[in-house]
Amino acid sequence: MSIVGIISKMAAAPTSPVTYALPIGNAQIPLNLYLGKVLRLRFTYNIYCIACQQKIKKSYQNGYCFPCTQKLAQCDFCILKPERCHYHLGTCREPAWGDAHCMIPHWVYLANASGLKVGITRKTQVPTRWIDQGATAAMGLFEVPTRLMSGLVEVILAKTFSDKTNWRKMLQGKAESIDLFTVGERIKPQILSQFDSVQLIENPQICQFDYPVIAYPQKVAALSFDKTPLIEGTLLGIKGQYLIFENGVLNIRKFTGYEIEAGF
Ligand SMILES: [Zn+2]
Repeated sequence: MSIVGIISKMAAAPTSPVTYALPIGNAQIPLNLYLGKVLRLRFTYNIYCIACQQKIKKSYQNGYCFPCTQKLAQCDFCILKPERCHYHLGTCREPAWGDAHCMIPHWVYLANASGLKVGITRKTQVPTRWIDQGATAAMGLFEVPTRLMSGLVEVILAKTFSDKTNWRKMLQGKAESIDLFTVGERIKPQILSQFDSVQLIENPQICQFDYPVIAYPQKVAALSFDKTPLIEGTLLGIKGQYLIFENGVLNIRKFTGYEIEAGF
């Protein structure tokens, strides 16, 4: 059987293990069913911007045409650097988008994906954000009213803790367990004394995730449709936004907007 369609980031449900589906055209491939089976993904050489749907030769920022990266708020530099959100200066590229995505409650969290890290997310993106990063455990620490505030808190914490996931390490095996609760207790006083609008998340729950993985790869090689239009092999696992094959790993998110023929 095969399906042709434009792919986008995998949908994930926080079951144990996480249940993944690959959106392709109007269909969803229930990926967990194909673990241990051969999956064939062939790039048709068609790419469409995920914002304006124009056919493009090359995508930028995981799925956009170049003009969209220059005019959409969701492609602005402050998306990678929330501490530089400039909505309050009246310079947001799309204030309505900012109202809906940035001027809303955010969480500052601790997670363990490839080791301890701090991060921020829209509150509504919990726990999706954590699964997308391949975290094995995560815990909300503070709630703040805006994206900017979350960025300012993260900048301070990032002096002590990593704010990045090492994706190679994340895909090499299970992260060693970390006591997030104890780390959180150490952090709290410092942040609460510096910011008035930071709220503590009371009785934070530690969310644990396990992923549908039969085997982790010995060597983590990144597969790319741009270099290898046909990616085919036994699906060994799914973690974060990655498919794990015998011969490498495929970051599905990077190829959002690519038209793919999936065969299984
Ligand atoms: Zn576009």
